[in-house]
Amino acid sequence: MSDITLGIIGSGQLGSLLCQAAKKLNIKTVVISDDEQGPAQNYTDQFIFAKYEDKEKVKEFINKVDIVTYEFENIPIEILKSINKEKKVLPKPDINQTVQNRKLEKTFVNKLGIKTTEWAFIKSAEDIKKNEKLFPGILKTNTLGYDGHGQFVLNSLDDVKKDWCFTADYILEKKVNLSREISAVITRFGNGEIYTYEPIENIHKDQILKYSKIPADITDEIFKKAQTNAKLIAEKLDYIGTMCVEYFIDKKNTLLVNEIAPRVHNSGHLTINAFNISQFENHVRAVCGLKIDKVQKISDAEMINILGKEIEEYRNRSFSDKEFFFDYGKKAIKDKRKMGHLTILKK
Ligand code: ADP
Ligand code: MG
Repeated sequence: MSDITLGIIGSGQLGSLLCQAAKKLNIKTVVISDDEQGPAQNYTDQFIFAKYEDKEKVKEFINKVDIVTYEFENIPIEILKSINKEKKVLPKPDINQTVQNRKLEKTFVNKLGIKTTEWAFIKSAEDIKKNEKLFPGILKTNTLGYDGHGQFVLNSLDDVKKDWCFTADYILEKKVNLSREISAVITRFGNGEIYTYEPIENIHKDQILKYSKIPADITDEIFKKAQTNAKLIAEKLDYIGTMCVEYFIDKKNTLLVNEIAPRVHNSGHLTINAFNISQFENHVRAVCGLKIDKVQKISDAEMINILGKEIEEYRNRSFSDKEFFFDYGKKAIKDKRKMGHLTILKK
């Protein structure tokens, strides 16, 4: 048994898969979550149900762990920073502060000379009028967005509703004429060593990831650029752990950064079966200070996200030895909720 105990904030499928990876490495886990039903409680050594503002419970969590990581980026930054004063939080909280804020994130990426979609910061209806050149565009809340929540398509000024009061900050992004979407999942270790998985091609439906595959159908140039951009971003952030850069490729074959996820990523689920070391295991290794190990691809693969009621059909099906069904064990079936995934190896 290793003597490291890893604390994980959040108890969804990413937390569950991190716990399973830690178990493989003989690392104990303690999960803290404000979701009483969070599925990671089935995989962790200890589960603490608490509001993140509950100082006593957070203290209990801190006392039980050696190092802390998180499965989602929308944790109040003050909480991450206060935990970090007692036990190291990786990736570093200030990385999260940049990446969970679309304006700071895009400014950071643009300063590295890496292209994003064209965008503008929006505080009022007046700001939208000034940026009509971005139509057709997508208005996104500046913080707290996920799976397309907080996004509004704007084709013309008529779509700006009179009753919108702009209580939050937004960004307006030009709608990209997409040829493809890809992602680059990368793990950076404390000594600066890096492993970059090959780019994964992704298909979204209603802004939610539906399907991923390797190899991605892209040119060698885009393949390399997606990886070098991701490396540069990880290095400049002094990132430790697994992160993901989501990209758009437009019809002119231009590679644009969509967003950075400072965590393991849904598109990387296929790495569990298609590689000897998954994005989850690499993350646990990196944040716990273990050494990088040789990562090898086992097979081409595809992954299907199972949303809402679709899970019922999968629960009643049988699978071949090339198919790997993951049921997240979520109690409530909700429309569009990520309930599980299926990875199919193509060897
Ligand atoms: P989230 O934070 O919810 O993941 P994203 O900004 O990644 O939000 O958007 C989710 C999906 O919506 C993208 O993967 C893409 O399919 C679509 N989308 C978002 N922004 C744009 C854009 N500017 N142009 C074209 N499609 C977009
Ligand atoms: Mg996204």
